[in-house]
Amino acid sequence: NSRWCLTGLTALVTGGTRGIGHAIVEELAELGARVHTCSRNEAELSCCLQEWASKGFTVTGSVCDASSSSQRQQLLDKASSLFDGKLNILINNVGTNIRKPTIEYTIEEYSMIMATNLESAFHLGQLAYPLLKASGVGSIVFISSVAGLVHVGSGSIYGASKGAMNQFTKNLACEWAKDNIRCNCVAPWYIRTSLVEHLLENKEFLDKIISQTPLRRPGEPKEVSSLVAFLCMPASSYITGQIISVDGGMTVHGFS
Ligand code: NDP
Repeated sequence: NSRWCLTGLTALVTGGTRGIGHAIVEELAELGARVHTCSRNEAELSCCLQEWASKGFTVTGSVCDASSSSQRQQLLDKASSLFDGKLNILINNVGTNIRKPTIEYTIEEYSMIMATNLESAFHLGQLAYPLLKASGVGSIVFISSVAGLVHVGSGSIYGASKGAMNQFTKNLACEWAKDNIRCNCVAPWYIRTSLVEHLLENKEFLDKIISQTPLRRPGEPKEVSSLVAFLCMPASSYITGQIISVDGGMTVHGFS
């Protein structure tokens, strides 16, 4: 049933070599999409590309630092030439964090987090727009965080970058609906990836996470990629402008 697959569609996924991005690349490719991805580490990228080729997936990749404007332009040029000037799916997944009290951040740290998390998503959206429009049916998914919805103690700059991303999703959804481009946002709580594994290794910290989470565990990357894939399918064709949490119930957990 073509409503529930991605056969014939093209996708660009940023940050696909580890964690949530890696799971998204695999999920989209398994469902039939042709995927282009990127990361900053050439060796890790080629290792992933080999692994995907051996699984029979159609995945290509380029080295790109998504926080650099010129490298973002090069990434889109590459995707455009690979996919004949058309793109169905853009996944803005790259993101990073520095955790510390607000008064301890330097202006350089502010700029680095904002450039990686927000500016990259904004600019890649701009650059991908003509390709998404040309394809006739487009879907953008932003990987945000519950930290953009509620205070979770992961740092105020990270929270601000994700909160802005949530609103940007709504603006784009309305602005680009006329071009048949849907825009949605996925907001995860703790997911076991290289970004947070060191935190989850601390038993006290993990117990605190579990106590705030009705499903009583952190999530797995596959539990995020399944929603992302759904948001790119024809089956979700009337869903746009939404921020959907993948959080084991954390954001609806009041006092108990
Ligand atoms: P990881 O750090 O595990 O993986 C990040 C991926 O993106 C890697 O492939 C990394 O490769 C790549 N990447 C990072 N920075 C850049 C950059 N500047 N340019 C290009 N590629 C880059 O992160 P997660 O999978 O955990 O996070 C993915 C997204 O999910 C982020 O936006 C994060 O904020 C969000 N998120 C994660 C949560 C979690 O608990 N894990 C919770 C909520 C949201 P390389 O470093 O080699 O470039």
